[in-house]
Amino acid sequence: MNIHEYQAKAILDKFGVPTPKAEVASTPAEAKEIASRIGGRVVVKAQVHAGGRGKVGGVKLVNSPEEAEQVAASLLGTRLVTNQTGANGVPVDKVMIAETLDIKDELYISIVIDGDIGAPLVMASTEGGMDIEEVAESTPEKIFRVAGDPLIGLTTYHARDIALALGVPAKAVRATTKLITDLYNVFVENDCSLVEINPLVVTEDDQVIALDAKINLEDDALFRHPELAKLRDPNQQDPLEQRSDKAELAYVKLEGGRVGCMVNGAGLAMATMDITKAAGADPANFLDIGGSADQARIEEAFKIIIGDDDVEMILVNLFAGIARSDIVAQGIVAAAKETNASVPMVVAMRGTNAKEGIKILADSGLNITGAPDLAGAAEVLKAKLLELGSSH
Ligand code: GDP
Ligand code: MN
Repeated sequence: MNIHEYQAKAILDKFGVPTPKAEVASTPAEAKEIASRIGGRVVVKAQVHAGGRGKVGGVKLVNSPEEAEQVAASLLGTRLVTNQTGANGVPVDKVMIAETLDIKDELYISIVIDGDIGAPLVMASTEGGMDIEEVAESTPEKIFRVAGDPLIGLTTYHARDIALALGVPAKAVRATTKLITDLYNVFVENDCSLVEINPLVVTEDDQVIALDAKINLEDDALFRHPELAKLRDPNQQDPLEQRSDKAELAYVKLEGGRVGCMVNGAGLAMATMDITKAAGADPANFLDIGGSADQARIEEAFKIIIGDDDVEMILVNLFAGIARSDIVAQGIVAAAKETNASVPMVVAMRGTNAKEGIKILADSGLNITGAPDLAGAAEVLKAKLLELGSSH
């Protein structure tokens, strides 16, 4: 689960990580009031579940409370589109008003779970304030990596190594070492999947401060943190993703495609997307119905897929093991009839009750083409797409 910068900052504050003085506002008047309390120049930051705000006007330095009010008014109620959002962007319901800092240097630090080594991994770089993906690509040697130990944690000498690799001023090494240790504790004690500070700044007076804060919480551990679970902001989520979360389905929206993919299993989803691409079409989304799907969930899954306006055709690729083909077929037919969906479907079903499933689809009167296997489905898909033409 994603949370907002101001919420992440509150967690950092609690764990002793230095952050700029800041408060959150929902109206321009509140923004003005906070700015005059903080005094002088402030920075107005759109609170959205996405980074890259600085480049698109979502982070603005202003010189007076009046200006803070104006900038807040221009941001609140709009949608911010950054390189990390879809074309629709995400709504700005709140802005954070923070004190400005005199920045001497922008650094980068993050912690993620590294699946290969099975431990939290700290990544640090002197190249802060820019896209870290770009740094990783063009100058990988500029990223310093240290793994923590699940039992021991991150030792002080490791934290110190990182502080030295960041090249902070000598008199800030001790404070930076503590900051890194505290940040590691934030990660572990809150069951985070990501803690990212970009930039971590060195100020003109040699203080090291977390200027930006991004925290993702591990969904499967949220039950241990009821107070963190309350930080969820459904407005930031795509409505279809909200629906699929509720139904415990895994739905992923993809940009620029035309084919909705319904599959059972994550690996099959990957293979299905490859086949869709090989057939000359891009997937608009994929939805993993998982193993034990009952008819109600299949109906909901189908409705979510056709709820995506980009979908012109649906590819159902089922490898029925625990899930039963006939149940899936019944779910699809019921949902298609209920919603009057006329989207053409290509269906490959194998495994448990595949024959029954295919018969239910064939007898339904819907626009459904059966296929014996995935390769066959790709051929049918290719032909159908040619028929449809490039209506985009
Ligand atoms: P992001 O673009 O969504 O990652 O938002 P950030 O919070 O990282 O802000 C983007 C950039 O704005 C930072 O890298 C800084 O260069 C700049 N910035 C943000 N706050 C301040 C500030 O208080 N003082 C100065 N001088 N620059 C700031
Ligand atoms: Mn940032």
